[in-house]
Amino acid sequence: MKFGTLSDLSNLISELSPYKTVVLANTTVEKLWLDRLDGFEAERIVIPDGEEHKNIETVKGIWAKLQELGFTRKSLLIGLGGGVITDIAGFVASTYMRGTMLGLVPTTLLAQVDAAIGGKTGINFNGKNMVGTFYLPDFVLIAHETLSTLPRVELLNGMAEVVKYGILDRKVYSLLKKLGSVEDLDRELVKACVEVKLRVVEEDLREGGKRRILNLGHTTAHAIEKLSNYTIKHGFAVAVGLMVAAKLGEILYNFDPGKVEELLRKFELPTGLPFEPEKILGEMRLDKKAWYGRLTFVVPIEVGEVTIEEVEEDVVRRALEAVG
Ligand code: NAD
Ligand code: MG
Repeated sequence: MKFGTLSDLSNLISELSPYKTVVLANTTVEKLWLDRLDGFEAERIVIPDGEEHKNIETVKGIWAKLQELGFTRKSLLIGLGGGVITDIAGFVASTYMRGTMLGLVPTTLLAQVDAAIGGKTGINFNGKNMVGTFYLPDFVLIAHETLSTLPRVELLNGMAEVVKYGILDRKVYSLLKKLGSVEDLDRELVKACVEVKLRVVEEDLREGGKRRILNLGHTTAHAIEKLSNYTIKHGFAVAVGLMVAAKLGEILYNFDPGKVEELLRKFELPTGLPFEPEKILGEMRLDKKAWYGRLTFVVPIEVGEVTIEEVEEDVVRRALEAVG
């Protein structure tokens, strides 16, 4: 893990002394950042922008291109982009010739604090992230300057996960309290979030137990995303999910939901339900199978302390109605 600038990339590459280097990016990031990179030799593979390209067809195209380029397992694939690119790059690097070198340079807030951290790779196949691997990169370079070109909506999208870390961790919470608005987001805050995720993942790479605390807000978020046919962005659904979790915390443990609401408002994230409580509950019930047959929630007890538990449907309904 390196917190630095894009100019650090050439050193990171030479430390690995790869046989060949290929940078994977999409057309948007190509123009904004890939064209500006220098100091090392690399081939490029550029794919179209969009979640709809995170699939096996795109992967096959990249595998074929790598073969054409004479890419070997001693070669380095660098994913430069948002979570879609870091997920695809990770998947390709873990499967091509049973595994090549991998470097990730996340360029969205969401990818910097979440997607590029923790070793999960994946593509969509009859469902989101249905096919994937666990594969740790040789390096992750977090170059703060890349966020300067990010559209505001993408910044806010990532900010919801940052607020999530704020409930999980006291240090992130106090940094968030000091922040005036999303514009003030700085390196220190990104770093503090990454540290929380790394700490959790180091204890539990394969999601047997502790890693599930990172799903705070996500039981509700998944239901909302599905109901909206994925027109509501993940982070905006997570924001509402955090409110629901906060209300559950209030009902079960006297947690103060005002702490979460205050942060979400400051960062212009939604705090109210986009669908009727019963509709959301219905979707959660459908999703139950994925949750081991139970309605499982990560519930805050206080800032920095959460539990993972099965919650009675009636309590969930009360929390949803309280969020309104
Ligand atoms: P994304 O990769 O689609 O990026 C969002 C948009 O921002 C895209 O249009 C992209 O081209 C653009 N963009 C990227 N960097 C930019 C920059 N610096 N300036 C301007 N525009 C830029 O989406 P995302 O939100 O970064 O990531 C979402 C993906 O991450 C999903 O596919 C999700 O499944 C995955 N994810 C994976 C994990 C994991 O653990 N592997 C965790 C969370 C999310
Ligand atoms: Mg998430």
